[in-house]
Amino acid sequence: MSAKKWVFLSSEVEDAENHVGGDWDSVRGLLGGKGANLAQMTRLGVPVPPSFTITTEACNSFLAEGEQFPAGMWEEVLVALKSIEKSTGKIFGDPNDPLLISCRSGAKFSMPGMMDTVLNIGLNDETAQGMITLTDDPRFVYDAYRRLVQMYGCVVMNISDHPFEEVLTEYRAKRGVEQDSELTAEDLQAITGKFQEIYRSNTSTDFPTAPLDQLRLATEAVFKSWNGKRAFDYRNAANIAHDLGTAVNICTMVFGNMGDTSGTGVATTRNVSDGSKVISGDYLTNAQGEDVVAGTRPTKEITDMQAEMPQTWGEFEGILQDLELKYRDVQDVEFTIERGRLWFLQTRDSKRTANAAVKIAVDLVSEGLINREEAVCRISPDHVDFFLHPQFIESAKGEARKSGRLYTRGLEVSPGAAVGAAAFDADLAEEWGKSGRPVIMVRPETKPDDVHGMLAAEGILTCRGGKTSHAALVARQFGTPAVVGCTEIQLDLESRQMTVGGRVIKEGETISLDGSTGEVFIDAIETFAPELDDPNLLQILDWADELRRLQVWANADYPEDAVRARKFGAQGIGLCRTEHMFFDPERLNTVQEMILAKSSEERQASLDKLLPLQRDDFAGLFRAMDGLPVIIRLLDPPMHEFLPSHDDLLVEVTELRVRGDNPELLAEKEALLQSVESLREANPMLGLRGVRLGIHRPEVTRMQVRAIIEAACEVASEGVDVRPEVMIPLTSHVNELATQQVELETVAKQVMKEKGAKVAYKFGTMIEIPRAALTADQLAEHAEFFSYGTNDLTQTTFGISRDDAEASFLIEYQEKGVLPSNPFDTLDQGGVGQLVTMGVQKGRATRPGMEIGICGEHGGDPRSIDFCHRAGLNYVSCSPFRVPIARLAAAHAAIEHG
Ligand code: PEP
Ligand code: MG
Repeated sequence: MSAKKWVFLSSEVEDAENHVGGDWDSVRGLLGGKGANLAQMTRLGVPVPPSFTITTEACNSFLAEGEQFPAGMWEEVLVALKSIEKSTGKIFGDPNDPLLISCRSGAKFSMPGMMDTVLNIGLNDETAQGMITLTDDPRFVYDAYRRLVQMYGCVVMNISDHPFEEVLTEYRAKRGVEQDSELTAEDLQAITGKFQEIYRSNTSTDFPTAPLDQLRLATEAVFKSWNGKRAFDYRNAANIAHDLGTAVNICTMVFGNMGDTSGTGVATTRNVSDGSKVISGDYLTNAQGEDVVAGTRPTKEITDMQAEMPQTWGEFEGILQDLELKYRDVQDVEFTIERGRLWFLQTRDSKRTANAAVKIAVDLVSEGLINREEAVCRISPDHVDFFLHPQFIESAKGEARKSGRLYTRGLEVSPGAAVGAAAFDADLAEEWGKSGRPVIMVRPETKPDDVHGMLAAEGILTCRGGKTSHAALVARQFGTPAVVGCTEIQLDLESRQMTVGGRVIKEGETISLDGSTGEVFIDAIETFAPELDDPNLLQILDWADELRRLQVWANADYPEDAVRARKFGAQGIGLCRTEHMFFDPERLNTVQEMILAKSSEERQASLDKLLPLQRDDFAGLFRAMDGLPVIIRLLDPPMHEFLPSHDDLLVEVTELRVRGDNPELLAEKEALLQSVESLREANPMLGLRGVRLGIHRPEVTRMQVRAIIEAACEVASEGVDVRPEVMIPLTSHVNELATQQVELETVAKQVMKEKGAKVAYKFGTMIEIPRAALTADQLAEHAEFFSYGTNDLTQTTFGISRDDAEASFLIEYQEKGVLPSNPFDTLDQGGVGQLVTMGVQKGRATRPGMEIGICGEHGGDPRSIDFCHRAGLNYVSCSPFRVPIARLAAAHAAIEHG
């Protein structure tokens, strides 16, 4: 026996566990998901056809050593084969009663359809004859035989499927039938012969008749398929490591096509669309597995089996229950019934919709199978996200599938449902989108030049690319549903149409795509906008709240946003951007007057007009957030953002000058242009904005603080618990803060005196500039709280202007792997994160227990939330729509890191 064990019988699960040191994840790594579960099922006493698994270690050795089996492996295969001969009482290659086997790939992580499989190994002219004598069913035997030659030819010898399919088509036409299952034994015998000819003419060799040769070459082919292009691209797209290797599962063939007491199917232990506790799935009598999966014959509901095969159903139901109990999760199984005898070929944790995921998790807790913590862990941020985007009505999608409208599938890279006219280039997508026609942009792949079309589209569909392709990145960035890598689509940009399997969709025809599942449908499917009222989701979020330590606040500028945020579970307002109130068209004139004022009196007059408006805004926020903190940030953007564009004004002035017909207007516009010019900056992002503006124009700070404190006094007098916090933006030096604090305190004191009232408030600052983080100990002398503005802090730390970069080189950076992700989406822990951690330490060294949060967009990103938990922040603040996701992500972080 060799030093290393390369082959494990499915009954040797303990040996496999010992081989890797005991833990189940490593057994899955060694035997692949399929092999590990075959072994587990064998241990549970589930009827699994005798089988064995060649390990992923063998595959890796084979690929590393110039495609040679490792020493001793083949001998172990022969010994294992003997063992399954003994269990089945059949001999591999025996002309009288031959053992037939399948050779299937199976990696640690499921890679559906990406690697190779060969069925019915062991058939040749002699053994076929023996099986005919034994079964008296030549049709069945020749069907199995022709499948072997076809699969072997395609998989092992790389012959195209095409010539084989042509022969089948020719025979169906000759017999006037639609299905292969309607061909006769004679037809299939003749077809087997023709397939052998195809094999010969393509490979210049005869189809191998020695069963052991068939097995050896099939095993080699499966090993090699790990490095096939399909598998390689899939791993890149799905972030699966390239060094895992695939196992090879050698399994005794069982046949579902041996008459009416035979059948085959796939089932889940619960309904994975809605989560209800009923066995769901499809099956077919007298058929082989691929007939069910291929959808070429209409399948029956699995529950029909109860009436058709009552005894088998009883056993089936019992085993499904056992499997669910063992795996403590919903299972997805493949099974075959051979002449009344039930066999299980595979089990794995089932994929499920978001609706089903939350229901199943809650139900499993009440059934005592898992605890609350596990239930929370089984829900992903994407599941929660699902409840916040328009979705397809599940039954409408089911109808579409049944009526054959499922067109193709790709990778689901940006969730949500989209319906629109297919447009095959970005210009057209933009034109249609802008004219109000919903459009789905379809491209071979996307490039930066396509972004205008992507922005106008409801959905994005590409033929190539993976999860980090340009299309996927841009779609996620803009929240546009997208499906990429639909390799089946042949897109003809000349004739403006796309084709999948002969089905043509012309440009302008309506399609629907589901960015949560990767499905693409012909025509429109009805959608609905989910409410956050699913009782199971609410239950999961309640449990998440019990588990998390980080609070979740929201960024909200208007009272109605605050109401929504609170409904979604926000525990405070982490950022009210007051400038958004200034952009209101009714106010913009007054704001412009204030900016362009020639004297301080004029300016004060405009501010006086703005004061009551701001006060009402803040009062609304305080009422909505009764009992919870509300952080109001003083004016941040550069002044020119409130004024007309310089370029537009220049054109206007030039035209007026040339026409010369309206000197008054010209003078007015010239004056405006001059003011705009005087406020122009080369780098406004680094210019007169944030606290600098507050120092330059202290009267604006005074007006805003007055509005805040007046509103607080007014609302407090109504009996509302008001907790204002005033925040200074873009601070870089402690003196800036000190100056603003004096202004603020003077006004606050004065207002309270005028009102004869007292309200507690906090004074704090944003940290958006590296210098602020570096000197956080000094800032904390004045600031009672910090809030990390990681949008600006990312810009200032990288020295990247977000608006310029996201439309250009940042996408290229991610495609080329220069950056692992967009640092404006996911916090750059190595750089920006260091500044956050440092600021927390320094701030709390000066002011122990200081309140510190984050209000940049990272506050709603699960990976960044994990970091914020570890950095010891008190809260994350994000847009109201991300609050539920943040609640879940904060719980995940607490569970993982304590
Ligand atoms: C930030 O910079 O992270 C922030 C929240 O401020 P804004 O996005 O308004 O610049
Ligand atoms: Mg900012």
